[in-house]
Amino acid sequence: MRLSKLDTPFYAVIGDPIEQSMSPAIHNACLQQLGLEPRYKAIRVPEEELDKQVEWLVESGCKGFNVTIPHKLRIMDLLDDIDPYAKAIGAVNTVEIQGNRLKGYNTDGPGFYRGLSDFHQGNFDDATVLVLGAGGAARAIVKTLIMKGVSNVSIANRTVSKAQDLLEESGSEALSISAAEQRLAEYDIIINTTPIGMYPKEGSVPIDLSFVSSKSTLVDIIYNPLLTEFLRIGLERGCAVQNGVPMFVHQAALAFEQWTGKEPDIELMKEIIHEKLGGKPTC
Ligand code: NAP
Repeated sequence: MRLSKLDTPFYAVIGDPIEQSMSPAIHNACLQQLGLEPRYKAIRVPEEELDKQVEWLVESGCKGFNVTIPHKLRIMDLLDDIDPYAKAIGAVNTVEIQGNRLKGYNTDGPGFYRGLSDFHQGNFDDATVLVLGAGGAARAIVKTLIMKGVSNVSIANRTVSKAQDLLEESGSEALSISAAEQRLAEYDIIINTTPIGMYPKEGSVPIDLSFVSSKSTLVDIIYNPLLTEFLRIGLERGCAVQNGVPMFVHQAALAFEQWTGKEPDIELMKEIIHEKLGGKPTC
């Protein structure tokens, strides 16, 4: 996609693949609601084109963009400044452009934390937390939880060494998935950060839930489908469940606030996602 330089600022999300992104729908609805031009676009940027496309965004009058798979780490090399929090996480998902200067932020971790805080309506500092997965999203979530004072965090991952690496940086406990399965009843909050449960693995679960306690809260950061198999089984076993919509809308809202200085309507964002995914806000 090419745009000529425009006086009206525009925003974007870059990634590959990007066709299914819900970011343009939620950002544009909120821009419009606040009387701003709805000019947020999804731009497919293959890995090898990142440098060229970022240069083009700056030249074309883009004021800010989100960054998704596979660029959250590589983008850091192209920025003039990185917010200390994003630096600590080691990934950037939001870039602000002022003049020719690019500054990077990470809103995934705080977005997740806001969603979980709303759900728990209060303090969960003392909760025992198990994070499934040790990729980019897990990294942002684990580091944010620990920075916010939730100190009892364990990580279970298919590749235990990756959980171990995160552990060394974060002070949490690394486990294999099978070890975590046996100890599931110990955890107050169990968070799936793996892609197991979304296309093409919709019917699968990241961990066997046989030993889960009905007192646990299960959180899946996947939002499409709205109810993953992990959450469906959790509901069956009497657990409280939360899907990936709150994290998604809060990370978007934090980026929106950074760029525009205005607070978007979170409920409008949620409605749009539920409408697009054809479901009811069940969790
Ligand atoms: P990532 O960096 O690729 O990490 C994926 C993690 O899942 C790794 O720990 C990987 O284990 C594990 N995994 C992948 N396939 C697996 C399989 N078949 N069996 C067992 N483990 C498997 O991905 P990410 O960026 O963290 O994203 C993960 C998920 O979070 C995606 O579904 C993404 O859509 C979702 N997400 C949601 C939001 C939101 O706003 N709601 C934001 C960001 C991401 P290994 O280490 O062994 O490879």
